[in-house]
Amino acid sequence: MTKIVALSTPPQPPSSLAEHGAKLWRSILKQYRIEDAGGLAILEQACIARDRSTSYAATIKRDGAMIRGKPHALLRHEREERLAEVRLLQRLGLNLEALHPSVGRPAGKTTRIEISEGAVALFLEMEALRQSCCCEPVDPKRYWLHEPCAHCVARRKVHIDLHNELGLRPWFMILGLWAPGKPLWKALQAAAKELRLVP
Ligand SMILES: [Zn+2]
Repeated sequence: MTKIVALSTPPQPPSSLAEHGAKLWRSILKQYRIEDAGGLAILEQACIARDRSTSYAATIKRDGAMIRGKPHALLRHEREERLAEVRLLQRLGLNLEALHPSVGRPAGKTTRIEISEGAVALFLEMEALRQSCCCEPVDPKRYWLHEPCAHCVARRKVHIDLHNELGLRPWFMILGLWAPGKPLWKALQAAAKELRLVP
């Protein structure tokens, strides 16, 4: 029996997309490998949002941003579509990660993250520091006055090491992505379990 191995060529833009959405589709898939149906569906939605916002922008440009002293009705929709696109692409950014340890695969151009034992050790260190946080509660009205406790300061340093260890992209440099339940946290927690470092 012949086994046919499909070389992964990026899927063509779906017919739901117009010019600008299709352009975004191609440019994202040139940089990232997205193969799961869920990820592609999110990408499609982001591209549809791009189509809408560009078409609204063209109409606003034609009519002028103000009509009889009032802001163009489409301004709000244009902004909403842009925000939707950003949000969807952010979601995709996390879905791009292969959320389980993989051994011995070349990283190449894929977005799979290699979870080394070193990374798991750093993760557990970060977790211990998070759990021993003794920060004063943050006053939401004066959050800029908040001084992180020594554990949180140390955790940031470990976070940078972990980020480098995993070879993550700069936009993953957000501590919040490591909050319990978030994909990166789950992936490392699963890896720690696999290594029997956590119950
Ligand atoms: Zn703290």
